[in-house]
Amino acid sequence: MSKKYLWILDNGHGKATAGKRSPKLDDGRQLFEYEFNRDIVKRISEKCKEAGIYYHILVPEVDTDVSLTVRVKRANALVGNMPKIFVSVHSNAQGNGNIWGTANGIETYCYTLGSKGNIIADIFQKNLIGTLGWKNRGVKTSAFYVLKYTSMPAILSETGFYTNNNECLKLLDGQWRDKIALAHFDAIVETENL
Ligand SMILES: [Zn+2]
Repeated sequence: MSKKYLWILDNGHGKATAGKRSPKLDDGRQLFEYEFNRDIVKRISEKCKEAGIYYHILVPEVDTDVSLTVRVKRANALVGNMPKIFVSVHSNAQGNGNIWGTANGIETYCYTLGSKGNIIADIFQKNLIGTLGWKNRGVKTSAFYVLKYTSMPAILSETGFYTNNNECLKLLDGQWRDKIALAHFDAIVETENL
């Protein structure tokens, strides 16, 4: 299989980003979204490395947040002879994340319908639902900064709600995290083979 793309892997948020963390579980644990996003991106990148798929981790910084403007500038400035695809990895929150809620499931975003980003978002959503079996909230459009201002096809995955007690437990679990990363990786492979 010849590899066609450079996959830009974006791990949303930073340690100090306001909100972006779950309520405390009964056992005292709490999901921090920046940590989840970084761990999933790391797991995806390991699978890409093994498969010889080209990737770039957009935010190698562990604790410091990197603004959306800088993230987009970094992605747009990357030069090479391969077309780029931007994948932003997140998990979701209901309301401001302070209290447990009932919202659950997976959604994937692109900037506009009918775009290459839309085709890729469909592939990610299909693989995430197929592998994880969680509620399918569908592919949606949004003018999220990283989708609107990146100069390449871009998608953003929201895997599960950390404000849902049951899904939060899964998002903290290493075996589920590997499945989440595998679903992203399978979508990358499927897109490479389009
Ligand atoms: Zn997020």
